[in-house]
Amino acid sequence: MVVKLSAWEDMLPERVEIIEVGPRDGFQILPSFIETQDKIHVIDSLIGAGIRRMEVTSFVHPKFVPQMRDAAEVMRGIKRGGCQCFAMAPNLKGAERAIEAGADMLNLVVSASDSHNRSNVRRSVEESLAAFPGVVELAAQAKIPVRASLATVFGCPFEGDVRIERVLHVCQRFVDMGCVELNLCDTTGMANPKQVAAVAERVLNEFPGIGIVLHFHNTRGAGAANLLASMQVGITSFEASFGGLGGCPFAPGATGNVCTEDMVHMLHGMGVDTEIDVEALLSAVRDAERILGMTFPGQLIRAGRSCDLHPLPSM
Ligand code: ZN
Repeated sequence: MVVKLSAWEDMLPERVEIIEVGPRDGFQILPSFIETQDKIHVIDSLIGAGIRRMEVTSFVHPKFVPQMRDAAEVMRGIKRGGCQCFAMAPNLKGAERAIEAGADMLNLVVSASDSHNRSNVRRSVEESLAAFPGVVELAAQAKIPVRASLATVFGCPFEGDVRIERVLHVCQRFVDMGCVELNLCDTTGMANPKQVAAVAERVLNEFPGIGIVLHFHNTRGAGAANLLASMQVGITSFEASFGGLGGCPFAPGATGNVCTEDMVHMLHGMGVDTEIDVEALLSAVRDAERILGMTFPGQLIRAGRSCDLHPLPSM
């Protein structure tokens, strides 16, 4: 069957939400410490470009991720300007620190596969899950919503395929605890568009009323195709990382998350709004590239927008 253009139009939403995760997923793997003021500057300029939700840091123990040792200062120092700024909270202590620093929302993380979770936090999935109700309770007392991120939903670098029943089970546990949003992550870029559509459709059907977000890594070049496929089955919320920053310590040479500005540019071209100003975003990202002194993998910063015309070469 060939999909007619008119059907295509029906499959595209008018608007999607892009959640920026570069300051957490991207910064956390960079080996040299980024000065707190630089982190705050980058975050503020992304908010200035129209980002309305962002994972700004992680309240992980500084011994494990020294890059995030200034989590509280970052959370306190940024200018929110209407952006929901949330943070990863790996445990009760991290949640206490995040709430105290003023996080608007907490993000819990567990892998769908045991081996990946063990390699990350030296606990089985069930052991990790058992520790979370206390965090959700603490957040509820502070009237702060909690979301949950599931890593390795579309494949585990140690175990291979991850069964959908497994994913649904972990989702259900988080929903039962009171989490308001589920973030399905392709942590090491193993997903393909057909698989993504199948999983996304199933999770949407099983958890009505719960926010469903997809998080893709571009490790094997399928990020944009995966985003499109999930949008066509009804997903309207995606995580992305400015400059395409990010990666996974367990997938050597892995490229990062789908790139925020590349995705926003593609979406706008298709008539799907994000309420983000691409030009302001590009200048924020180029600025960040200069401040961090690195070359980002994102492509729009090199190629420019498709509407930017070039002078005709003289013959
Ligand atoms: Zn990620």
